[in-house]
This record gives sequence, C-alpha cells and structure tokens, in this order.
Amino acid sequence: MYAEVLADLRAAGAEWVQLDEPALVQDRTPAELNAAERAYRDLGALNDRSKLLVASYFDRLGNALPVLAKAPVEGLAVDFTKSAAANLDDLAAVGGLPGKRLVAGVVDGRNIWINDLPASLSRLGTLLGLADRVDVSASCSLLHVPLDTAAERDIEPQVLRWLAFARQKTSEVVTLARGLARGTDTIAAQLAANRAGLSSRANSPITRDPAVRARSAAVTGADARRSLPYAERTAAQRARLGLPLLPTTTIGSFPQTGEVRTTRADLRAGRIGTAVYEERIKAEIQEVISFQEKAGLDVLVHGEAERNDMVQYFAEQLTGYLATQHGWVQSYGTRYVRPPILAGDISRPEPMTVRWTRYAQSLTHRPVKGMLTGPVTMLAWSFVRDDQPRAETARQVALALRDEVRDLEAAGTSVIQVDEPALRETLPLRAADRPEYLGWATEAFRLSTGGVRADTQIHTHMCYAEFGDIVQAIDDLDADVISLEAARSHMQVARELAAHGYPREAGPGVYDIHSPRVPGAEEAADLLRTGLKAIPAERLWVNPDCGLKTRGWTETRASLENMVAAARSVRGELAGGHPART
Ligand code: GLN
Ligand code: ZN
Repeated sequence: MYAEVLADLRAAGAEWVQLDEPALVQDRTPAELNAAERAYRDLGALNDRSKLLVASYFDRLGNALPVLAKAPVEGLAVDFTKSAAANLDDLAAVGGLPGKRLVAGVVDGRNIWINDLPASLSRLGTLLGLADRVDVSASCSLLHVPLDTAAERDIEPQVLRWLAFARQKTSEVVTLARGLARGTDTIAAQLAANRAGLSSRANSPITRDPAVRARSAAVTGADARRSLPYAERTAAQRARLGLPLLPTTTIGSFPQTGEVRTTRADLRAGRIGTAVYEERIKAEIQEVISFQEKAGLDVLVHGEAERNDMVQYFAEQLTGYLATQHGWVQSYGTRYVRPPILAGDISRPEPMTVRWTRYAQSLTHRPVKGMLTGPVTMLAWSFVRDDQPRAETARQVALALRDEVRDLEAAGTSVIQVDEPALRETLPLRAADRPEYLGWATEAFRLSTGGVRADTQIHTHMCYAEFGDIVQAIDDLDADVISLEAARSHMQVARELAAHGYPREAGPGVYDIHSPRVPGAEEAADLLRTGLKAIPAERLWVNPDCGLKTRGWTETRASLENMVAAARSVRGELAGGHPART
C-alpha cells in the first residue's frame, strides 16, 4: 500500500516524504525490529518514490537506531533533547549516517522554555561529523506547545523572555541553522538575547527559593510513610467513620452546569464581586450536599463547583506556577487546555481548599471528603521545569500538598482524596526508565499524604481500566482506598487487583459516567456482586467510574440513587447470609 502511496506522492511532486515512527523509541522485540528492517528494505528498493525521511521523537532509538542507519532511506530525524546523550553515543557507535541526511531535533517541541542556543550549536557541531548533511529541527511536532508568547500580556516581561512557544521555537530553529551554516557572527544579536534570557532565569528568585529547597532537602523516608500499617489504620478509621459495609461515595465533581461556569466567568470578568460569587458557590454546595444526604450516600463531597480545572485551580494558588492567557494546546479531538507552567520553586502561601470543604462539612453530619489533585498529575498536566529533575519538582509540589492535607485534617476532615489520574500517562516509554519514575512518583504521593493521623482515611482515584503495568505502583501509594474505572470492563480491575494481592480497600466504578445513560439499580448490583468475587465485602466501596462534572443533574440524580439502592440490596444479601447471587 505504501509503495502505491509513495508513487502517487512522487507523481504529485513531493521530493521528500516523512514517515513517522515514534513506535521505534519504545522497546521492540527482535522480531519487530526485523520486520522494520524488511519493510524499509522493500520501501527503499522502490524505483518510483520520493526520498524517505524516517522520523522518531520523544526518546532514544536504542536498538532501532542500527536498523534505521542501515536502511536504504535518505534521511533520519532523531530527538536530541531529552535523550541526546544516548542517541549521540548510538549514532557514533554505528559509524554515523554516511550518505544520509540527519534531521537533528535540538529544539524541544514538548516544552515551553527557550533553547540553550550555545549548547545546541555545540551539539550540532558534533553531529556535523556524523552525517552527510545536518538539518536543524524541533524535536517533534509543535502541536504540544502554544502558539506565540507575544499574546501573553499578564506574564511580566522579565519572565516572558524565558519562554518559547511554537513561533519562538521556529525562530530558534532558523537561528541555529543560520549559525551553523554561516558562523555565529551572523546570529550575534540572537545569541546575546538568548544569553540574557538564560541567565535571567537561572538567577531569578522565582526559580530558587531557599526555604523551599531547604525543606525539600530535609525530607526523610519517614516523611513519606504513614505512622501505622494499614491494618491498624483501617481499624482506627472504621471506629471513627462508622461506615456501613459497601460504603457509597462519588469521585468529587458534581455537574458543572451552565450557571456554575457562568458564575466563575462572571467573577473573572468582574461582572460580579467576591461576595456574590461566594454566595452562589455556597448555594451550589448546599444543593450538592442536600442531594447526597437525601440519596443516602455515605461519604459526601462538596462538588468542586469552584474549580475550573483540577490542575489549574491549584496552580493558580501555588507560588512558582505561571498561568498563561492564551497558551492553548490540544488535549484530544476538539478539546483544548491551557496547561500552567511550573516555572519556579513551589510553595503554598495559604490554604487552597479548606474553606469550601469546611463549609460543606458544616452542612452535614456525614463525612465530607477533602479533594486534592496529586503531585504527579500536577506535573503531568503542566509544563515542567527543564532545569531540575522532575523528581525534585514533584517533591516540592508534594510538600505544598502535604500542608494542605494537614490543614484539611486540622479542620476536621476525616477523609481526604488525592487524585492521581495521570500516574500512568507519564510512564516512560522505555521499560528500563520506569522504575525510577515510579519510585519518585509514588514517593511524592506518599509525601503529600503520609503526614496524617492513622484515623484519617486517604483515598486516591485513577480513571482508567488498564493498569497491569503499574499495579505495584498503585499498591506502593499506600492509600487506604482507591477508586478506579471499571463499569465498562465489568469489574476487570477488581480481578486484577485481587490477582496482585492488593491488600487495601478499592472502589471499582459501577456507574459509567462517560455516557448520559442511567444504569439501573439491578445492573449496578450485578457489578457489585461481580466485584465481591474478587474483593471481600469489608474492602469494597461503591462509586461511579469518575467525577460527574460533564454530566447533567437529571441523569446524575437517577444514577446515584440507583447506585445507593444497589449497595443497599447487596448489603441486605450479605447480612441475610445468602451468598451473593451470581
Ligand atoms: N476529583 C475529580 C473529579 O471528580 C477527578 C477527575 C479525574 O479523575 N480526572 O472531577
Ligand atoms: Zn477519573
């Protein structure tokens, strides 16, 4: 098929055709590498074709590099940002790319920091000796970064010059190419501006807060451990919370109706003042609490009406984070997000969620769950610093969250959920890199949650069903309760958790929130009975797959009422001594 396509493209006048092969930066079996070798041998042997450029990005090519180096194609595009050292060594080891063109991705296409132009020039100088011809490029497509820093009016000019979005990155590519071809004299002005930007960033008090650094350096293993093992914690939590068997709860957000979004937008635009805004949010919380009480849920939530986005809401309140006005990037399909920027050392000037949680708790005698976004997700859905390891940034965020967790606890919150839906998303592409990542990621989570009393119950949530390769990491979080997506897969996660020997409480979702469909009580009860075959009743929770912010109130009400009815009927079966129906 590709032979035909290549002939068509050539007939249409394409001199070069790029074949994207990011799959080759993942671990591939020898059989897969053989298949790649054969495929490129065949494509290369075609008479009627454009020149071929095989593009890779996001990581090192590893074993695929010798295969591509030998392949009869005219060019390779290789990522020289994160995996520069490995790719350089491997290229040198195969004797370079004689007769080929090397497209050198030295400008990071996934981050928003200005390039270190002198460092890139020296890298490009090395590469010149390894290929027939070297072209300068971004490391990958620029769809991962916003368009243009010039649109940002609220970021102070001093900080704005640390940043490069797609237009700035394109200019960097052009500058580097010119410097490489015609000498650095021809780019003297750009080099001077670059030097000023780099040194301003390195020396700014934003990037170095001595108090944050001292605290982070003083962290010990004990800080990232709960004071008691799970068996003792759960006894204390049972005594304090007095929950029924198969306790019911939700994941946090309730419908973000048009009015809720308008309220936040009105405040931002100055159409309403803080007093009116707070009254409206309070009214929303009242409605959410009173519905949950009437429906008979056991652990309530305040509903997250004040949050525009689960990462942005915290980023806006943490020192060291920058928000953009126009930094939109594609999340998926037609959905765009504006990731905040982790620009400096992170600290929390004041509590971020305590007021609303405390207000919600004042309305009910049932426990209201505190709701936070975990450190790994805060990094995954932001642009991260490139001047320190992600582990260090995660630790700083974790310490800020740890203070928030403490403050929630001190305000009387007995259940606190720290969401980590992105834990798996930033799993390194190469298996060899995963233990290190999972090590700091799980430590950051435990650091944010480890400081609580034994009778404070820590929940976490992840919204995906396939976690086979991180189930040990989920265990390592040491959360008392985890909720997971499971409705569509008919409790597959429950079986996987059981197979792993997961020792703590879990709530595999019984309500698929990705559709407006209302699950019937009997359907939810059936899922619970299936869950009970894998997880004992004392450790099984009843909850939806994820938050309800995208749902409407009508279906939310009906679905949650059915979910509670399902829990009650299965409780009855358990109490009556009847074996759970299958
Ligand atoms: N607490 C968040 C909510 O309920 C969790 C969202 C998520 O898992 N992505 O909306
Ligand atoms: Zn979720």
